[in-house]
Formats: sequence, C-alpha cells, structure tokens
Amino acid sequence: MTSTTQTTTDSPVVLEAHNLRKHYAVKRGVFKPMATVKALDGVSFQLQAGRTLAVVGESGCGKSTLARSVTMIEPPSSGELHYDGRTVLGRSAAELKELRRTVQMVFQNPYGSLNPRKTVGSILTEPLVINTDMPKDERRARAVAMMGKVGLRPDQVDRYPHMFSGGQRQRIAIARALMLNPRVVVADEPVSALDVSIQAQVLNLMMDLQEELNLAYLFISHDLSVVRHIADAIMVMYLGKPVEHGAKDVVFNRPRHPYTRILLAATPRVNPALRVERVIPKGELPSPLNPPPGCSFHKRCPFATDRCAAEVPALRPVDDRLVACHHAEQMT
Ligand code: SF4
Repeated sequence: MTSTTQTTTDSPVVLEAHNLRKHYAVKRGVFKPMATVKALDGVSFQLQAGRTLAVVGESGCGKSTLARSVTMIEPPSSGELHYDGRTVLGRSAAELKELRRTVQMVFQNPYGSLNPRKTVGSILTEPLVINTDMPKDERRARAVAMMGKVGLRPDQVDRYPHMFSGGQRQRIAIARALMLNPRVVVADEPVSALDVSIQAQVLNLMMDLQEELNLAYLFISHDLSVVRHIADAIMVMYLGKPVEHGAKDVVFNRPRHPYTRILLAATPRVNPALRVERVIPKGELPSPLNPPPGCSFHKRCPFATDRCAAEVPALRPVDDRLVACHHAEQMT
C-alpha cells in the first residue's frame, strides 16, 4: 500500500483506497472513435481516524473525481475501496446504503448545496428520515443539538438557507454531513467560496469537530495555504495521478516533485529557510483526452530530460514520502 508513509500505529484506518481508477468514454467527433478520459488513474491512500489527508492540485487534476469516487456518488471504474475495513465495491444496494453512512461529504458551494425551499431543521433531519427510524421529536432534538455544535443558534432551526451568511451556510452543510455520525468527512473545497476571514473560522470549526468526534477528513483543495493548518498528510495530484504523497511537514519543507514546488512557491511562507525557489511551469495543463507520453508533466517541467518524455515515472519512496519523478533525488 502506497500510503504507509502516513500511518501511525495508534488510530484505526477508516478509509482506504487501492489503485482507484475512474475512466470515462467520450466522443471526439462524428467519425472519430471514442476516447477514454482517465480522470482518476491509480490512486491509493489510507486515512486514519482523527487525521486529515489533503488532496491538492489545480482544476482538472482529478481531486474532485476522487471525492465523488470515494463517496460512491460516482463509483470508481476499478480498484478497491474500504470503509472501516469493509469492502465497498460490489455490495448490494441495501448494504451500500448502510456503508455510506460511514463516509459523508461537504460540497464546495454552500449556496448551491442546500435546498432553498427547506428549513435548516428539515435539511438536517433529512438524512435521519432516509436512513433511520428515529421518531420525529428525537430527530428535531438531534438537529438542534447539532446546530449548537457547529456554532449556530437553536432558535434558527426554522429559518431558510437564504437567511444565513456564506459561512453560516457552510456550517449548516457540515452539520448535515455529521447527522449520521460518520467516521469520515470528504470535504471538496469546503472554504474556497468563502471570504478569507470566514475561511479561518470554518477551518477552526472543522478542526474542533475533528478533535471532539475523532473524525477523519479527506480535504480537497487547490490551495496549499488553506491545507497547511488542517492537514496531517498531503497528496499532490496531476492529471489524475498522485505525484507526491507524504506527511505534511516532509512535503512542505522539502518538496521533491517539481509540480509540488510550483504549488508551494505560490504559497506565502513565514519561515524564510523553508521558502522554495520559484519554479515557473511552461504552458497550460494538457487535455486529459490527449495526455503527453512519458511523465505527464514533462511538457511543463523546467527539469525535463529525454527520459521524462519516454518513460512514465513510478510512484516510489524517496526521503520518507512517495514521489513520481525520475529526478526526485536532484530536487533539493
Ligand atoms: Fe519533471 Fe522529468 Fe520529474 Fe516529470 S519525471 S516531473 S518531467 S523531472
């Protein structure tokens, strides 16, 4: 398993993915054969209770596909997925419904992810109506208690989403995700639609809830500065594949993949000793319909050699992390 660099012995693994792939067949034109988009192409990780794995990369790198695959919103094309040690893929619909309670999702847009015609109370109790036979008054009491946990006032329970600010709406979305007592929350860019000052409040809330409930987070973000405080481990993705994966401090302090260096160089650093020399990528993210041969980053990489254009780099251990670069040892 590729993620052993992140595990500690004290917490159980609550989410595990092995070699997950999500491939789509797409039409290229009337007389052209179908093409395959490899939105996710061999992703493995382990996530322990009470820990946060941040998945970072620019738009189109596959991180949101990963979020939808591990939550089974869009089941992966192949690979293995385990919730709390139990295999997920190949289960019956009834078994899957039960398993899905373990892993819940918070979406990016707190404006679009809440039904504007339902009150907060109704939004929060809906997962209980669908998944449990809890009596109505108990459901409402649980919703009110959860509002208190996420910093909302119980007397706001009969209000509608439009009566709340963006940060409050994301608190409602987090509360909804927690109603079924999940072990894992997959958060897809949960603060990127919010003002910077509100981002910090929501991140602090998530960290408090993690400590209180021993939650594991799979935290998806395009922004390394956002994940700096919340992550225990980082997985950097590029064109559907992990390119660097390790403990946060290892990756932040000494990135070994040129793409990670680019992302980090764009992130403000307080400690000058840890500043990363600015590396300028060439060109744009290639189309996933027609990825370059060899290393998929080679057309943008300032360190590319002939080998990079010909040979796909394997994800391999270098210096306490995993990295997919032929020249990782030279990136000091
Ligand atoms: Fe750059 Fe070559 Fe490493 Fe790819 S394998 S990241 S092209 S140096």
